[in-house]
Amino acid sequence: MAAKSFDMIVIGAGPGGYVAAIRGAQLGLNVAIVEREHLGGICLNWGCIPTKAMLRSSEVFHLMERAKDFGLKAEKISYDLDAVVKRSRGVAGQLSGGIGHLMKKNKITTIMGEATIPAKGKVSVKTDKGTEELTAKNIVVATGARARELPGLEADGDLVWTYKHALTPKRMPKKLLVIGSGAIGIEFASFYNTLGCDTTVVEVMDRILPVEDAEISAFAKKQFVKQGMKIMEKTMVKKLDRGKGKVTAHIEANGKVEKVEFDTVISAVGIVGNVEGLGLEDLGVKIDRTHVTVDEYCRTGVDGLFAIGDIAGAPWLAHKASHEGVMVAELISGKNDVHPVRPESIAGCTYCHPQVASVGFTEEKARAAGYKIKVGRFPFIGNGKAIALGEPEGMVKTIFDEKTGELLGAHMIGAEVTELIQGYVVGRALETTEEDLMNTVFPHPTLSEMMHESVLDAYGRAIHF
Ligand SMILES: Cc1cc2nc3c(=O)[nH]c(=O)nc-3n(C[C@H](O)[C@H](O)[C@H](O)COP(=O)(O)OP(=O)(O)OC[C@H]3O[C@@H](n4cnc5c(N)ncnc54)[C@H](O)[C@@H]3O)c2cc1C
Repeated sequence: MAAKSFDMIVIGAGPGGYVAAIRGAQLGLNVAIVEREHLGGICLNWGCIPTKAMLRSSEVFHLMERAKDFGLKAEKISYDLDAVVKRSRGVAGQLSGGIGHLMKKNKITTIMGEATIPAKGKVSVKTDKGTEELTAKNIVVATGARARELPGLEADGDLVWTYKHALTPKRMPKKLLVIGSGAIGIEFASFYNTLGCDTTVVEVMDRILPVEDAEISAFAKKQFVKQGMKIMEKTMVKKLDRGKGKVTAHIEANGKVEKVEFDTVISAVGIVGNVEGLGLEDLGVKIDRTHVTVDEYCRTGVDGLFAIGDIAGAPWLAHKASHEGVMVAELISGKNDVHPVRPESIAGCTYCHPQVASVGFTEEKARAAGYKIKVGRFPFIGNGKAIALGEPEGMVKTIFDEKTGELLGAHMIGAEVTELIQGYVVGRALETTEEDLMNTVFPHPTLSEMMHESVLDAYGRAIHF
């Protein structure tokens, strides 16, 4: 059978791949997308969305436990873990189905199967019905990533879990060890701890949420400890001894090893790119520590071959993947006003309780980059809406370039900050200065008023604190 020909073939239907496909189709390209598992990729099926559905359950549970604070009565509060998981899987399934409709609506050829790239411009897909051969001038690799496994700490699905097991638990852990305190580890720690599980987080770096501003990490730690979580920083899990229904973790801190028993371990020690088996190295693509090396336009150096999203490196975030997808589709279609994605303008959000969100330079990084800075802070306790919501714990921190007034970074912790951060992202994209932000009128009563106050504070003008 002759190979089917397309303008663009996308491999992987995660938020990088499916968005690239849609943008390509919008621009008149004849597009095919190949997916080996689920439309929507990790994000919709095993990442962003099902975790947020689970965290919503624990958030409502937490509010019910606090019913009295709001003048309400809720007694004998409990949960049905299977129903929590069922809801989360349902939300994921609904959204994955939605991607199928979007592919049809945009007349994108969807092929379910495993793709390889046997030669430049060629894609071979192993499907249930045999192998399909495709050709295209442009191929976009968006095959994403999977959980990183460290020797001795490998997941077994029973006692030691990856995020996939943690999203479909068959039982509620009683004593949980979470290894790694990045966004994924902390979200699971928050979910299980809120539902009453005795939770310990071990982080090898000197603080939890190590990519965040140090002040935010410290604030988060204080809150988690208050909620009963144990946090061990500058600490390493060296080994796990697996027994019947229990794991003994060898935990090293300050040169001393302590043995602690748990019934469940979640390993959240990062991700590795899905680079294997595609034929990338034979094509001359450079791979650096499981990620494809690309330039700022996601070009691999091989003509007509692009890599986007998690496989193309940090930050490993769905919105970064999607934005790269749009950029690459526009490049392929010949648009000439295409801008590269600027990693420093991509916000990071963690949906633990309290939530954490940030964009741009941390205070430490701004100083290290040589900026003279002005820093503003505003606490949730000074905001009427936060108090009315019963959410007085949190802060908004802003960092400005003293010389130009450029907003270098914003760091937030507290209720709904994952929604608020976009205000600062827009500000940075429009190259807003402190003057513009101070002259903006924020609606009252809103949590967003703290964003205004934090800016005012950087210039000694905060009103409510
Ligand atoms: C637990 C968890 C929570 C997360 N929460 C968030 C969050 O809140 N916000 C956020 O921004 N990010 C979050 N992420 C990260 C986010 O999921 C990823 O950044 C995002 O999915 C990357 O998109 P992608 O398109 O690059 O790859 P993926 O979503 O990984 O999609 C890649 C797709 O390619 C397919 N594929 C791979 N190889 C082949 C092949 N050879 N042939 C055909 N198909 C192939 C895979 O089956 C997969 O469907 C989370 C991740 C995890 C694990």
